[in-house]
Amino acid sequence: MKYNIEKINPIGRLLAEVVEEALKTKGEKEGLIGDVEMALRESMLKIGNSALQCFLENADGEAEAEIECACGGKLKYQRRREATIWSVFDKVVYKRAYYAGCTCGQGCAPVDRRYGIEPGKVTAGLARLIAISGIKEAFDAGRKCLQEYLLFEVSGNTVRAETQKMGELQRQADADLVKEMQKEASLQKREQSQPSAPDILYGSLDAAKVRIEPRNEKEKAVENRETWRDLKVGCWFEAEIVPHRQQSVRQKDKTQREGVVLRAKNQQYFCDIDKAEQFGKLLWATGCAVGADRVRILVFICDGAVWIWNLIAHYFPNAIQIVDWYHAADRLERIAEEAFANFDERQAWLKRVTEDLWQGKVELVIEDCRTLAKKSNLAKQSLSYYGNNIERMRYAQFRTSGFMIGSGIIESGCKQIVTQRLKLPGAQWSLDGAILIAKARAAWMSGNWQKLVSARSLLSLAA
Ligand SMILES: [Zn+2]
Repeated sequence: MKYNIEKINPIGRLLAEVVEEALKTKGEKEGLIGDVEMALRESMLKIGNSALQCFLENADGEAEAEIECACGGKLKYQRRREATIWSVFDKVVYKRAYYAGCTCGQGCAPVDRRYGIEPGKVTAGLARLIAISGIKEAFDAGRKCLQEYLLFEVSGNTVRAETQKMGELQRQADADLVKEMQKEASLQKREQSQPSAPDILYGSLDAAKVRIEPRNEKEKAVENRETWRDLKVGCWFEAEIVPHRQQSVRQKDKTQREGVVLRAKNQQYFCDIDKAEQFGKLLWATGCAVGADRVRILVFICDGAVWIWNLIAHYFPNAIQIVDWYHAADRLERIAEEAFANFDERQAWLKRVTEDLWQGKVELVIEDCRTLAKKSNLAKQSLSYYGNNIERMRYAQFRTSGFMIGSGIIESGCKQIVTQRLKLPGAQWSLDGAILIAKARAAWMSGNWQKLVSARSLLSLAA
């Protein structure tokens, strides 16, 4: 937005005087810059509060004797009635025209309707900030940070409620998308109108455990004991080459072997706690939204639980399937740990077998595991792991094609969505609570916060 600077500047000068006076009265000689900033912020909070009140009180214009009710009946002017909202400028009390007397029993304040205000509630502007704190930290810890940022108090319960509301909006958006992408007509319409999809698109799926623990009687009725549930996470992304000057030391080492280093961009995360079959519908719908069904090359890099490959084969049968390099290589390291007591022997084995895997010679890796099967249980178990995934581990071939072979993307997605928030100490989740926070977090990480905020602004209108 553009503002009239000539009008704003005098306000600034006036504010400077006010702050100077206040600091003097407080008895501080000069005050350090931090004191000045704080004094300015506190004053601006008060100005914002008063300005918002003025704005809303001026918004009515001339009152009419009678207006139309939403039901089609007539509403009569009553008086200017007081309302309260919780905004980014703290609690604001304002008066606006109020109409009532319709046969339906509903009253109406046109100003509230026009601006999407729910009297007595948090505004969309404040909700967007509160919910960010709620997805980042435990609700009560978030409260303290918020107070620093906002300069007034918000309760832990409000943080929880507003964060869950954002999650609810994302859940609704997911459900709408799933429904839309099941319709043949929408798919066809999309076919005709969609802009071009990327040349190579990547997908990844994973899951992490979340402890579900009912907090009260109502939740216990649904989920009557503590359980661990799989939070399934998916991510769509594209790859780009990391410029040499931006590469980390580790990446530079890698470059010498690989030629180029790729990193993920435009990540779109989605998640749910649901059966694989249901989650598959979300995979398909979010995939259609990013053009996964129409790209030239679709590559899935996964850790490889069976349900994951099954879903991929069902929805995207032509996709290239790759077992995440880090998982495949890490397993060798664990086998070596278990099988060799001697450090040098262990390192020698590991170096040789890892190189075989790097070259995509999975058959050789399997042979090596077979040799160790007697002294390492993990080696024995790994026979089927490598055996079932031979074609998904042709790493040399994948590299030649220019594909990413290990992303860390989904892993970091799981970490960010699950570990860093849902597994915080003292965190206690109902099934719904966990799903909502995870969905809100996924939206934030995918850069879709503004979409949720826009939907949040429309909530009062839908009510
Ligand atoms: Zn009515």
